[in-house]
Amino acid sequence: MNANLYALLRQGFPQDLDNLAVETDTGLRYSWRDLERGSAMMANWLQSLQLPDGSRVAVQADKSVEALMLYLATLRAGHVFLPLNPAYQSSEVAYFVGNAEPAVVVCTPANFGWVSKIAFQAGTRYVMTLTDQRSGSLLDRVAHHSDQQTPVQRQPSDVAAILYTSGTTGRSKGAMLSHANLGSNAQVLQDYWGWVPGDVLLHALPIFHVHGLFIAIHAALLNGSPMLWHAKFEPQRVLADLPRATVFMGVPTFYTRLLAQPGLTPGVCAKMRLFISGSAPMLVDTFQDWQQRTGHTVLERYGMSETLMLTSNPYRADARFGGQAERVGGSVGFALPGVSLRIHNEQGLPVAVGEVGSIQVKGPNVFGGYWRMPEKTAQEFTTDGFFITGDMGTLDDNGYVRIVGRSKDLIISGGLNVYPVEIEDALNQLPGVLESAVVGVPHPDFGEVGFAFVLAKPGATLAPQALLGSLKEQLAGFKVPKQCQVIAELPRNAMGKVQKNLLRDMALTLTLDLP
Ligand code: AMP
Repeated sequence: MNANLYALLRQGFPQDLDNLAVETDTGLRYSWRDLERGSAMMANWLQSLQLPDGSRVAVQADKSVEALMLYLATLRAGHVFLPLNPAYQSSEVAYFVGNAEPAVVVCTPANFGWVSKIAFQAGTRYVMTLTDQRSGSLLDRVAHHSDQQTPVQRQPSDVAAILYTSGTTGRSKGAMLSHANLGSNAQVLQDYWGWVPGDVLLHALPIFHVHGLFIAIHAALLNGSPMLWHAKFEPQRVLADLPRATVFMGVPTFYTRLLAQPGLTPGVCAKMRLFISGSAPMLVDTFQDWQQRTGHTVLERYGMSETLMLTSNPYRADARFGGQAERVGGSVGFALPGVSLRIHNEQGLPVAVGEVGSIQVKGPNVFGGYWRMPEKTAQEFTTDGFFITGDMGTLDDNGYVRIVGRSKDLIISGGLNVYPVEIEDALNQLPGVLESAVVGVPHPDFGEVGFAFVLAKPGATLAPQALLGSLKEQLAGFKVPKQCQVIAELPRNAMGKVQKNLLRDMALTLTLDLP
């Protein structure tokens, strides 16, 4: 049997290949046959280059259906897909290209000058261009190739993609994901999230990240479901297309921005079956506001580049506990079928209910290792083969997982652990506070202390000292940040994750004369 992921996804295509597969927000319509033929032509071009097995194809392009075809073509040709955020600048691209040594690099025509220079220096043989307007040298080149292709034979453990971690806490590492990692996770999610014939996915996520590229696209392809394809997330456009969709996947910022639109009503969500959120924590306020405004309960799930999806809130309320299991705000739900998830304390023992520990996982979805970093890989697995996610979390009586933050964001103050999420939750409950983020900064006496950044609700004025005073009434003194700064916006990466490394830098530049 061929373990090539494309062969699995292809099985999900509908019988009638002339059905709609993708409709873009500029009105272009692609059938399943178009996806099949377009990706075959690109795969044939890749194969004609006679690259060594496992060659990397790095793509830094704007979101387009042709970029999706290029991903599928790379799978079909048996090579390794390496997506890069189009926002990366030359020093970042130089690192990724230097590290991954791709045989092929595809970029936008606007970036060709500097990208090709970097790529040729790193030994790349082919640098092509691709626009989001169906043009570029890639398309010119593939036009001469046949639109028939049989996916190259792959073993389950062969690498299909390398995703560079977002690197908010250090140098980016390339997570190697195999055909079996991606295929097994896609199949589990198709079942767990109850995909049915007739589903339509509204796709507004970027496609250089695990969420938009793998979780969303694999689900739609495997289910033979059409995608309403938005080049960028624009709340107005999402609202305009929601009445035609049944499934939406977003990062929490998408939900808060949609909530700010008066047009978000139960009416526009009438056909919707499922709203899914992930990649960053959703505030309980957002979860509740969404329920009130739309009548739908967001399903929050948790995963990462190295492991794909790990946990999910239940799709059906009857999934557990005799019909009692619900989607719970602030929780990321249960370990998915096939995923072993445990939370261990510093002694390496399972934590008690409610106690914080290190989340560790094992399963067919867990990656094989970091590209050319065997020592880093070894460090992040336990001796019994569990991957140490780097996330800290708790389990409740019913088995719901809660994430309290990255272990690297943990603040150790006077030898005691302070979990930023606990402080952020308390801050968010205070009148006038919209959102907050707490980071650790060095302190001569305590080693480290918390530094809080807060955002005010529209029209509210916040007094930082008063906020800290209120926290002192609720929390043990060692947990209360020593300094608080009101800011207009939290720095976030493209997936809506708060960039705590940038906040730490900001905190350090602010006068630190801490008590
Ligand atoms: P990435 O590899 O870029 O997808 O980032 C993965 C990290 O995002 C995880 O290790 C978590 O720290 C965080 N993350 C993903 N989903 C959630 C979620 N639902 N709640 C809280 N954190 C999340």
